Amino acid sequence: MIDARCSCGALSLSLPRPSRLVVACHCIDCQRRTGAPFGVGAFYPIEAVTISGAPKEYVRSAASGGEVRSYFCSDCGSTVCWKADNLPAMIGVAVGAIADPDYPAPVRSVFEQSKHAWVEIGDTAVEHFEQGSARKNSG
Ligand SMILES: [Zn+2]
Ligand SMILES: [Zn+2]
Repeated sequence: MIDARCSCGALSLSLPRPSRLVVACHCIDCQRRTGAPFGVGAFYPIEAVTISGAPKEYVRSAASGGEVRSYFCSDCGSTVCWKADNLPAMIGVAVGAIADPDYPAPVRSVFEQSKHAWVEIGDTAVEHFEQGSARKNSG
C-alpha cells in the first residue's frame, strides 16, 4: 500500500498502487490551494482509497465547471485529497502528500493558459491542454 498524509499525520490516505492518471494542473485555484505554481494530483477510484482522520471540507466552483471539494487537515492545513463534480467516481490525491520521488510523473498537463513560463512538465508523452482536458492545446 502507498500512504499519503498531511504534514502532521492526523489525516492520511491508504492507496492500493501507483495511479496511471497523474495530472499537473496550472489553474489559479490549484496555485492558491497548494501555495505552489501548480498542483499535481493522482486520481483513484473512490472505493480504492481509505481515509483515516477527520478532514475539513472546502467547497469551491471549478474552472472546468461544477464544484470541487478539498479535504484538509484542521490541525496543520495540508490538503491531502479532493473530489470534483466532473470526475464523480474519482478522488484526487495530492502527489506531494505521498512524498515519494519515484511516484509516476504526470501524463497530462492542464490549464496551461495560467502556467508559469518557466515550468516544463514532462516529455512528449505528456498531453498538454490550455484549459481542462476536454479541450486540447493546439500549440
Ligand atoms: Zn495535519
Ligand atoms: Zn487546477
